[in-house]
Amino acid sequence: MSEPTPTMAQPSLTGPSLTGPSLTGPSATRPSPGELARRAEALDAADELGKLRERFTLPEGVVYLDGNSLGALPAGVAATTADVVGRQWGELLIRSWDESGWWTAPERIGDKIAPLIGAAPGQVAVGDSTSVNLFKALVGAARLADPSRTRLLVDASTFPTDGYIAASAARMTGLTVEPVDPSQAAAAMGADTAVVLLNHVDYRTGRLHDLPALTAAARAAGAVMVWDLCHSAGALPVGLDENAVDLAVGCTYKYLNGGPGSPAYLYIAERHQTAFDSPLPGWNGHADPFAMTAQYVPATGAARARVGTPDILSMLALESSLDAWDGVSIEAVRAKSLALTDFFLECVAAYVPAGNVESVTPDEHARRGSQVSLRTANAREVMAELVARGVIGDFRAPDVLRFGFTPLYVGFADVERAARTLGHIFG
Ligand SMILES: *Cc1c(COP(=O)(O)O)cnc(C)c1O
Repeated sequence: MSEPTPTMAQPSLTGPSLTGPSLTGPSATRPSPGELARRAEALDAADELGKLRERFTLPEGVVYLDGNSLGALPAGVAATTADVVGRQWGELLIRSWDESGWWTAPERIGDKIAPLIGAAPGQVAVGDSTSVNLFKALVGAARLADPSRTRLLVDASTFPTDGYIAASAARMTGLTVEPVDPSQAAAAMGADTAVVLLNHVDYRTGRLHDLPALTAAARAAGAVMVWDLCHSAGALPVGLDENAVDLAVGCTYKYLNGGPGSPAYLYIAERHQTAFDSPLPGWNGHADPFAMTAQYVPATGAARARVGTPDILSMLALESSLDAWDGVSIEAVRAKSLALTDFFLECVAAYVPAGNVESVTPDEHARRGSQVSLRTANAREVMAELVARGVIGDFRAPDVLRFGFTPLYVGFADVERAARTLGHIFG
């Protein structure tokens, strides 16, 4: 999996903000298996996004519920990659930097991602990992912030890399990191807050944070707001421009299906581009890279987020993968995602004997991303058994079964089979 399994100790998932709906309702009110299978069939027949599955190459007999960790392979990527290697590299050689559009790929592909995250063109540059882009964004944000401000607020339940990078960025810029529960983040923002970093969707619980309200709170406090979109981009509308977000980062190998280790992106709102001062001013972000001057002059626009030579092979695989989104509305994706997660919760309640699993994903649609996380004893073994039976999700320490629902290629029959298989494991 592209997203490595954390090996460090994780805080246990307790506390009121993590308590989801109980899945132990009385069995008398539950729909029967035959009824759920029939409902799944009807839902698939009525699903306008169902035909998009043809845009992906998926193995037979597998229910893939891990697209929030490594998206499935879009159908055109293999041929594009063969062309990039065989013809563009093999035959055109160095001419491809111009003739095959290699040089302009980071901004061109950024503009292809932009509509999926609610950004007008010219604000997204693709390249490097999410971790590296977090570093650029956080140090850049600290340099944009009022120098009298001292605090960097970070989501206390963040994906670990965000916390590690934030700690280093804070050391470099003289800020103090303050972990906050996202539900308390607005209240914690004050006159001494320089930067706020939050994950849009919590990777473990699937909780969706209120991007419009939290961004507005940061603006009201005079802080620079940085969002990590790894678990929301491609799964739900993000609305970066509409909500006047300052900076955002995200990866492309989860819901965007760019392939293992495909490059991440950095969004710099147009109003900040002139002042954005990257801590990694590599020659690719220079206004005139081939002038080879000793002095650094940043490029205008999102290109100043660039560092070194772009990773062309994975970048052009990503570009091809984004064709899977042609004509797809992210609002329709969101509607189907919620229908899939609702149906999964319903099937789990019907199929899994009471008391075995508990959802830690919010029941409320406005607080739910595109995954369902179920706590259970022996989660690692349970997931291994599910995978052995052809249902691929993943395990997150200490006790979470994580199921990602990717509306472009997951259908309702997949959901029903996954829950039924889980039910069989608990006997
Ligand atoms: C997946 C993920 C990352 C991954 O970072 P990489 O540098 O691409 O490995 C970072 N942050 C969050 C919130 C994630 O979900």
